[in-house]
Amino acid sequence: MWDATTALVVGEDRALLYDTGATLREGAAIRAQAQALMGGRRVTHIALSHPHFDHVLGTAAFSGTEVYGAVGVDTVLTGGRDALRGDAVRHGVAEADAVEATDVLVVPHHLVCGEWTLELGGRQVLLANVGPGHSGHDLAVLVPGSREVVLCGDLVEESGDPQAGSDAVPSQWPAALDRLLELGGEDALYVPGHGAVVGAGFVRAQRDELARRFGVS
Ligand SMILES: [Zn+2]
Repeated sequence: MWDATTALVVGEDRALLYDTGATLREGAAIRAQAQALMGGRRVTHIALSHPHFDHVLGTAAFSGTEVYGAVGVDTVLTGGRDALRGDAVRHGVAEADAVEATDVLVVPHHLVCGEWTLELGGRQVLLANVGPGHSGHDLAVLVPGSREVVLCGDLVEESGDPQAGSDAVPSQWPAALDRLLELGGEDALYVPGHGAVVGAGFVRAQRDELARRFGVS
């Protein structure tokens, strides 16, 4: 409904999901799709890009997973249940669905300060706390490979203009995009929080546009 992106990174032993959808029902649908893609295997790890309803409210649909977030996101989620519920309803989630999802809200068990390498079995991924920017707690993921992939969360949006809410940190957003570009380099695929996959040129143009919009260099 919000064109939000979810990504699945599969190793030999473990599988990492990046973002979990806007409701428990969406989370359950993502879980089913992920298991189908993996021949029945389960998601073992979850990384949450940032604490906005359309990226985190499906987490409780995944039992027994290790959940990662940027340091400080635990406080925001624990103290911000009502705000999260209100935000979800304002954006069109049914009240009952929003209540259900925030009642069982999962707070990350592992808080990433700087960078954290996760071994998935034959494949390593790097969780990088690149924020703040779009929110106070933006966590990106670098997936190395013949062509690197950077999961950007809402630091980058393709299907609409980047959304700056009350928890955005405009003065630091362009620098967060510089860090994303450093992580992935010129040839990586960049996966926005909303919309289609883009290249470094798009991210750089969005960085410059945000810098102009917010009056920072
Ligand atoms: Zn967001």
